[in-house]
Parts: sequence; structure tokens; C-alpha cells
Amino acid sequence: MNVQTLTINKERLEERITALSKIGKIGETGVRRLTLSKEDRHAVETVKGWMEEVGLTARIDHFGNLIGRMEGKNPDEPILMLGSHIDSQPYGGRFDGTIGVLGALEVVQTMKEHQIVPNRPIEVIAFSDEEGCRFNKGLFGVRGILGKLEESELDRKDKDGVTRKEALIEFGCDPAKFKESEYQKGSIASFLEMHIEQGPVLDNLNKPVGIVTGISGPLWLTVELEGFAGHAGSVPMPMRKDALVGAAKVIVALNEIASGEPGAPTVGTVGSLRVFPDSRNIIPEKVSFTVDLRDIDLNRRHKLEAQLRAKITEITEEHQLQCKITEDTNSEPRYCAERIKEIMRQEIQNIGLEPMELMSGPFHDSLAMSYECEYGMIFVRCKDGISHNPKEFSTFEDISLGTELLYRTTVKMAQE
Ligand SMILES: [Zn+2]
Repeated sequence: MNVQTLTINKERLEERITALSKIGKIGETGVRRLTLSKEDRHAVETVKGWMEEVGLTARIDHFGNLIGRMEGKNPDEPILMLGSHIDSQPYGGRFDGTIGVLGALEVVQTMKEHQIVPNRPIEVIAFSDEEGCRFNKGLFGVRGILGKLEESELDRKDKDGVTRKEALIEFGCDPAKFKESEYQKGSIASFLEMHIEQGPVLDNLNKPVGIVTGISGPLWLTVELEGFAGHAGSVPMPMRKDALVGAAKVIVALNEIASGEPGAPTVGTVGSLRVFPDSRNIIPEKVSFTVDLRDIDLNRRHKLEAQLRAKITEITEEHQLQCKITEDTNSEPRYCAERIKEIMRQEIQNIGLEPMELMSGPFHDSLAMSYECEYGMIFVRCKDGISHNPKEFSTFEDISLGTELLYRTTVKMAQE
């Protein structure tokens, strides 16, 4: 297939992404732009300047979100919102979030250059604190505008003891005026987000861009196994109640269960494990470990969870262990709107690419938006799936193709 000429301006997009990557730069290619920090403010001001150059009405709201508005023929129609975030992890990359904001800005600038006036208003948004690493709770800005912040969120402290409230005030926001920055129910029609994949699927399949089917919700369990401690030198093997051997079998079982269906996007991980008493010459008495199980197909995830629980029962009986399973999180998958995916399928072919669909394992600002309005997401290939790391890398060719798809999708939806 021949890739069509781009409508968007690849050089301009590249210049902006490169310029923004210098704010909070660490090492050769990394970025440290913690939410509500001086670097974050500098980045927000920079993007705000670009929004104004493009002719958008730009403002920073009381949650620290940056919002640029392009007026529509019908200003009172619900908004078509595009964006992502520009805050980063402490040891992060140049593309995470950023391409979704600067790509969206490129989209509206290209529309203006082509004298395309949308029927409804379009807003480009850089959400405050998507990452959640500074105050240990993310999706702050997006939950803010939807009126979904929890009590005491303002009292959360960063490592230096600064509360979110203090950081917001320092940033120029007024937490007493949060209400003024909320969006009324029904005032946002749709949300579109472009993001790097942060996984290796597109890279493996050699596809520059993918259409996201939805964000898979994780099931988080904590499993505690209890056996009996004894001297590692004296208790004969058949008499042992070794909790770690049981845990090892469960870990292998999860790996097999999650890999059972070829081609399915299911993923299962044990990422944290604690052993008691944690001594080289004592048989492990207690082991607790986490389970993270994700799938875009909730029925399949339920089925696999049941298989895992049955396996745990079998293993604990075999090794005469006590078992306790706690459910920490049980989120449902949030699907992208079928009609937006259909527009994207058509437009991706018009660009000359084959449609490719995949789920998102990580969550994004879109996750919170999915409870408010329909949403669509575009993934851009990132090298080896590396993200939250200075080595994170996407080519400007791929980012431009993703932005072109975002542009064409937006133009279609703006004319509705
Ligand atoms: Zn991100």
C-alpha cells in the first residue's frame, strides 16, 4: 500500500515535540516533568503560547489543566475534546502523553489552515497529573473536570511533604474554585486521545499505528499461603508444608492460564512476593504475592480467574497449605466507541495503512473520560514497547501517521 501524502505538518509537529522534550530534560533523551513542578509549569506555559499562536483561546483551569478552545459554528453544542497529558514520570520519556497533546494541537492548526470550521467546539486539553507519581494518585485533572475527586485528595503529600493543595496554589490554581472548572454533565460529546502504545504489539507486528479497542481493566488479587516452618536441614521432603513451593506452582499456573489462548491479549503477572521468615535454612511458612490479570474480554477474564482459583485450591491441598485470597481491584474493561473505531478504520485505509486493532493494558486519561462520553484512542508504535524510561522512542514518521489519523477522524467528527 502507498502511504498518502500527509495533510498535517510533520516538521512543525517534530519541532514542537523536540522543543518540549528540552523542558525537564534528563540525560540525552529523558524527561523529568513531575506534575505541578516548575518544569511542568514551564511546559504548560510553552504549550499555551503555541495554542494562542494557533488562534485558540487558551486557559489554565483550577486543576492545573491546560485547555485551548477552537470555536464551532454552534458554540453551545457539546464539545469534541482531544488531548492527553504532558506531565511525566521522574525518569520518563519524551513521547508519553506529549504526542497526544501536541498531535491534537497540530490537528486544529491544520484544520484552521484548511479553513475547516467545526460544527461543534473543539477543545485541546493537556490534563494535569495523569501519571500520579508525585502524589501517588493519578488521573487528577481529568477526574477534576468531571467532578470525581475524592475527599482528602488535596492533603496527599509528595516525598518532600508538600501537599497537593500547596502545589496547586504554587502553580497558580485556586482549589476553592474547583467547581468553576468542572464541566457540566453532557457538555462533552466525545474524547479522542493519541498515545504511544507503551507495549510491544505494534512493534512486533511492524505496524506504525493501531486503533485501540478499549482499555482492559485489571483484576488485582493478593494471595497469602501459609504452611509450616521447619529446619531446612531436618524436615523430610514428604512431611513439608512449604508455602513458597506452593506459591511457585501458582505463579507457573497463572503464566500458563494467561497464555492459554493463542492470539488473545490476556496478560497475567505476579510482580511482588514476600516470604516469611525469609531465611535460607528455614522452610518458608508464609508467602504473600500479588496477581495482576487483564483482558479486554471480561467474560474470558472471569473464566480465567475461576481457573486460577481452582488451581490455587488444588495446589494448596497438595501441599497442605492455608490460603487467603483478597481482591484489591476489580475494574471492568472500558470499550472505545464502535462508531469512532469505524471512522478510524475507514480513515486509516484512506491514509494507505492496513487497519490494526489492539487493546490497551495501561490506563490513560481516556479511562476517566469513558465514564462521561464516548471515546476513541490511537496508538503509535514505540520501539520494543519501552516506556516510562528515557529510552522510550517513537519515530516522527509513525507519530505523523498517528496524527494524520487523528486529524482525519477529528475532521469527520467535527462535521457531525
Ligand atoms: Zn501517558
